[in-house]
Amino acid sequence: MTLFEKIIAREIPADIVHEDDVCIAFHDIAPQAPIHILIVPKKVIPRVGEATEEDQSILGHLLLTAGQIASELGVNNTEKGFRIAINHGKNGGETVPHLHVHMLSGRPLEWPPG
Ligand code: AMP
Repeated sequence: MTLFEKIIAREIPADIVHEDDVCIAFHDIAPQAPIHILIVPKKVIPRVGEATEEDQSILGHLLLTAGQIASELGVNNTEKGFRIAINHGKNGGETVPHLHVHMLSGRPLEWPPG
């Protein structure tokens, strides 16, 4: 079972902000910005580059949900704004092998990322 499956199963606590049939979203335990939410599909797709055509609606749903959560937190606008990141593999910075979308906001974020 992946770490995030354990959160979905309520075996590990998390500060959950959203759940539906397709995904769950919760605050990152080590936030890299004042707002740092993870949006995680209930289906275990290890990483984004391994998603298939069959996962298309799940991938879309994760981005739409990130936008909805950003709206709820008051940052889905051009004045504040937010960043979405998906880390794949070693160079991408992946540490949990269960696809997740990071939604970060609450401070200016540098580009390019480090
Ligand atoms: P990544 O490095 O893209 O695989 O992202 C994994 C993220 O999961 C990191 O930002 C971690 O801080 C976060 N994380 C690890 N364990 C937990 C946990 N128990 N609850 C919430 N977030 C977690």
